[in-house]
Amino acid sequence: MNEHLDCQKLLSSISDFVDGELSPDLCQQIEQHLNECENCRIVINTLRKTIDLYHQQPPSESLPQEIRQRLFHRLHLDEFLNHDRG
Ligand SMILES: [Zn+2]
Repeated sequence: MNEHLDCQKLLSSISDFVDGELSPDLCQQIEQHLNECENCRIVINTLRKTIDLYHQQPPSESLPQEIRQRLFHRLHLDEFLNHDRG
């Protein structure tokens, strides 16, 4: 059995990943998953683009939790997780 990072696990750490707060090992697993999974690639690309936009505006170091939650809600991550099953 090789370690398989499934979509649900990936999405649960996706915000840390785009923030660059994950360990190199985990980042590598995520990158690997992204190579194989188009759905997650789309989610992460959208998230990164949106975060880039926020970073360009105010000179703040990290995304406020409230904005992050709104962002996740807007990306329909819950829907994505349910849809992915099966
Ligand atoms: Zn995936």
